[in-house]
Amino acid sequence: MTADETHASPRSLNALVVAGARPNFIKIAPLMEELRGRASFHSRLVHTGQHYDRAMSENFFRDLGIPEPDINLGVGSGSHGEQTGRVLIQMEALLEEQRPDVLVVVGDVNSTLAASLAAVKLQVPIAHVEAGLRSGDRTMPEEINRILTDAISTWLFTTEADADKNLLREGVAPERIHRVGNVMIDTLLRNLARARKLNTLEDLGLEPGGYALLTLHRPSNVENSEKLQALFAALEEIHRELPIVFPVHPRTAAAIEAHLGGSQPALRNTEPLDYLDFLRLMADAKLVLTDSGGIQEETTALGVNCLTLRDNTERPITVTEGTNTIVGSHPDVILSETRKILGGESKTGRTPELWDGAAARRIVDIIERDLRSAL
Ligand code: UDP
Repeated sequence: MTADETHASPRSLNALVVAGARPNFIKIAPLMEELRGRASFHSRLVHTGQHYDRAMSENFFRDLGIPEPDINLGVGSGSHGEQTGRVLIQMEALLEEQRPDVLVVVGDVNSTLAASLAAVKLQVPIAHVEAGLRSGDRTMPEEINRILTDAISTWLFTTEADADKNLLREGVAPERIHRVGNVMIDTLLRNLARARKLNTLEDLGLEPGGYALLTLHRPSNVENSEKLQALFAALEEIHRELPIVFPVHPRTAAAIEAHLGGSQPALRNTEPLDYLDFLRLMADAKLVLTDSGGIQEETTALGVNCLTLRDNTERPITVTEGTNTIVGSHPDVILSETRKILGGESKTGRTPELWDGAAARRIVDIIERDLRSAL
């Protein structure tokens, strides 16, 4: 060994981080910050282009200070097979060329699975952030993405104890499972004070506690015209008592066009909101009605009541410890559960263990430790 070699600093670790859709951008923000802040890592960001318009993509990069993607695959919209296939083909070529030490994927969208599938065949180790969540509902496309991504990942970073149990039941070796907290809550905690300074409520003529916030985009709710109509009828009834602000997801806008002949629900409809405006609205809402995954967690962290318009959740801690109630999509149940909250029967929860703003740091610490010990 030469003197030079003795004192040489260890080579930097190459991380390739993949994001494709709105909830991914919110989750990668603290991870990119953590990776870029460490001299030990050289990290690159791939945007698959699954969500591509300004309101669903670009604005999140700007507001959350996420670095410009190094590579944009531009896959765009399409069927599940088309999207997954396009990401798989392009990610294979990219991974062949770059040979990173680790591929970091988050969440449960098609890009998460496709990038992981490309990596595992090339023996690039995968770190899956938000592993182990299971709704038990295999008709949900995200559930398939979750199960398959977890099956081929090296590191499984979880947000809650149930996720650990799900993985153990599926035969994942315990040493691969790391409960680290929740990167989506890292982002929320970092941005709440900024959001609270915005005039979003004033601009919409709303008072704190004087409105509800709604999001709806799961195929199980929006791809069936009768169900969609019945849901909107119940929500319009609530809106007459308490204004409902409804940022309309592009898939839901297309469903309203296709299934309801473009007839818009009589709510306070808006374009999809920027993260900080949406956070501002969530934080002061009387209640949130949603079929989103991440919003169930954010409302729990904020202590705001959430009614989940689905029959199940992959995030049970938001129900057992947080402020979430699963109500399904039957109009009568939605009305009665909303009226309970309006009548003062709110649910008080607590913030789950490790949802403390330090999840990204824990994740990068573990990846760095394990990669170094393998070199
Ligand atoms: N969100 C946003 N603007 C909106 C609606 C949602 O910034 O108009 C944020 C929300 O705070 C959460 C994320 O988008 O962080 C949730 O994304 P989405 O509901 O699309 O995905 P899911 O969590 O269901 O996978």
